Amino acid sequence: MRSLDRRTWAIALIGVGILIYIGLWIVPRPISLSYASERTCIGWPTFLPGMHKTVDDAKFSVSTEGGLRIGGFQILSTRTCVMPMKSPGSGSTLVALSPFSGWFFQQRMIVVTGDAPRVNFDNSKPIPASRTLQLVLNQPDKLYTYRIRIDQKTASCLGISGKALLSCNLAPLKLLQGKQYQLEVLRAFQSDSPSVVLKTTITTLTATTIVGGSVNGGDTIYAKPTALTFTTDKPLKHADALLVEEGTTSAVATTTSVKDKVITVTFASELPREKSYTLKVSGLEAVDGSSLIEPYVVAFHTSGGPKVTSVSVGRSSVAVNARIAVTFDQPLSTNQDISKLVAISGATAQITRNENQIIYTLSTGLCTPFTLTIAKGVLSSYDIASTVGWTYSSRTICHTTSVYGYSVRGRALVAYTFGAGGPITMYVGAIHGNESSSSGLMKSWTDDLEANPSLYTGRRVVVVPTINPDGVAANTRTNAHGVNLNRNFPTDGWVSDINDTDGHHARGGGSAPLSEPEAQALASLTAGLHPRLLLSFHAVGSLVTGDPGGYSAGYAAKYASMVGYSDTTYSSGGGFDYDITGAYETWTTTKQGIPSMVVELGSYGYYSFSHHQAALRAMLN
Ligand SMILES: [Zn+2]
Repeated sequence: MRSLDRRTWAIALIGVGILIYIGLWIVPRPISLSYASERTCIGWPTFLPGMHKTVDDAKFSVSTEGGLRIGGFQILSTRTCVMPMKSPGSGSTLVALSPFSGWFFQQRMIVVTGDAPRVNFDNSKPIPASRTLQLVLNQPDKLYTYRIRIDQKTASCLGISGKALLSCNLAPLKLLQGKQYQLEVLRAFQSDSPSVVLKTTITTLTATTIVGGSVNGGDTIYAKPTALTFTTDKPLKHADALLVEEGTTSAVATTTSVKDKVITVTFASELPREKSYTLKVSGLEAVDGSSLIEPYVVAFHTSGGPKVTSVSVGRSSVAVNARIAVTFDQPLSTNQDISKLVAISGATAQITRNENQIIYTLSTGLCTPFTLTIAKGVLSSYDIASTVGWTYSSRTICHTTSVYGYSVRGRALVAYTFGAGGPITMYVGAIHGNESSSSGLMKSWTDDLEANPSLYTGRRVVVVPTINPDGVAANTRTNAHGVNLNRNFPTDGWVSDINDTDGHHARGGGSAPLSEPEAQALASLTAGLHPRLLLSFHAVGSLVTGDPGGYSAGYAAKYASMVGYSDTTYSSGGGFDYDITGAYETWTTTKQGIPSMVVELGSYGYYSFSHHQAALRAMLN
C-alpha cells in the first residue's frame, strides 16, 4: 500500500511534471506583432536565457530581456521578444526559443501579424514646394523605412516617435511652385528593395509674388526715406534683404522685418545722395510655406539737389511777355528765399515759383537777348541743395504780327513786321490761292528773318505770306466770291468782266474796284506802309518783272539773275498774253508810286527756299 502510494505519487508527480512541461514548453503562446516597435515582447520567464537560441530564425529572431543577474551572469529573464527578420506578411507563424536551439524545453509562440500599415495622403490642398511633407499612417510603424519619389528623385521620410506620421523632406526633390507632380511612396524592410505603397497626385503652392513697393526698378528717390517697403500677395513669415551700393561689395546696414503682407527694410543710417543701389529680397517664406520663385531685385538711385530738366522756350522764339517755365526734376522747398539765387540779365522779368518750377514772366522789347541764371544751392522739398548752377540764353522774337483785315470767309489776314524803324521792304504772296508755293516761300522767308535780325538793322521788313487765305484753303485762283483779287484794284481802265488764263469771267474782277475785303485790306495796308520796294510772288512763269525804267527794274534784273529766271521787265505785256486790268502791282506802281515787282515761281505747289534765300535778302539793300 505504501509502495503503491509511493508509485501513485511518483506517477502523479510525473504526470503533473508532464502537464507543466506541456503547459510551459509545448503549448504555443500567441503574440500579436506590433509595427510600432522593432521587437514585440511578452512576459515569460526563462531560466538561464544565455543558453537559449532561436530554433528557426528565418522569419523571426527570438530573444529575451529583463530578469536577474548574479555576478554578471544572467540567471533568469522575464520577457521573451520576437523581431522580424523579413518583411512580415499578415498571418500566423510558429516560432520557438530553446537551450542551444534543441528540441527540448522549447518556448513556442504563435506570432500573429496584422496588415502592414497603410499610408494616407490628403492631396486636396496644395503643399509648400520646399517644406516637409507629412504622410499619415493608420498605425505607428518602426519596422519599415519609407521614401518618397517624384520624377526619379527620392527623399527620405522619418517616423515621428509615438505617432502614426511620417515626415518627408522635400528639399532634395527641388519641386517648383505652382506645379502638379506624381508622388510615389516607397516602403522597404531593412535592405530589401522597396515597393510602391501609394501613388497620388500632389500640387505645390503657387509662389509668393512681390506686387508693389515704395521704390520701383529704375526709380530715383528724391526723399530721405528711413525705410523701404514691399508688398506681397500672401501673408509672410520671414524675409531677408540685402542692400548694396553700386561699385561696392559690402552690404549697407539694414534690418528687415515682415508684418502680414509687408516687408520693411529699414536703413541703419540715412542713405548717401547721388548713389545707385541694388536691393535684393530673398529667403522669403510665406505663412503658407511658399516663397519667391527667384530673388526680387530692384535697382534705384538717390537724387542730388534739384536739377533743371527743361525750359519751356527755344533759343530765339520767345514772346516779349513770355512766361518761361524752368522745370526741375523734383519739388522745390517752399521755405527758401530764391531771390538771391535766381536772376535774369538783359531783360526784365517777374520771377515766381511753383512746386517744381521757377517761372520768369518777361516784360521786355522785341529781339532782346537775355540770360537766365539759377545759382547752386536751390533746396528741394527734402532740403537737399543743388550742387551745380544753371544758365540759359535766349532772345525775344524779332517780329510782330498784325491782323490787317479778314477774308470773305472770316480768315485773319496777317502781316509780319521785322525791325524797329527805317525804310520798308514789303513781300506778299498768294494773291492767287492756287499758287501756294508763293505762300510757302514767304513763310520760310519770315523764319529766315526771325533767325537773322542783322538782316534788317536800321530797316523794316513786312511780309504777308497769304493775301488770299480762302483761295489757298480751297486751292482756287480766286477768292471765295470767285473774284480774281489781282483784277480788283483801282487801276486805269478797270473792268468787271475779265479774260483770265482759263477764259472769260463775267464779274471776275469784282463788282467794283476794291469790292473784295482782301483787296481793300491789302490796299489800305500797302498805302499806309508805302514801302520802298514791293515784291509780289506768283506762279508759275519762272520770271521776274519790274517797272520798266523805274526803281524796281534793277531789283527785278538782280533777282532774276540770282535765281536763273527770265527778266521780263522790258518784254511787251510783261510776259502775259492776256489783258490785265486791276492788278495789285499795277495799282501800287501807277497809283501809289510804290516801286513794285512780280516774281513768278516755277511751280504752283513746290518751292525751294534755299534757291531764293540770297535773292530775297538782296532786295533789302
Ligand atoms: Zn498769280
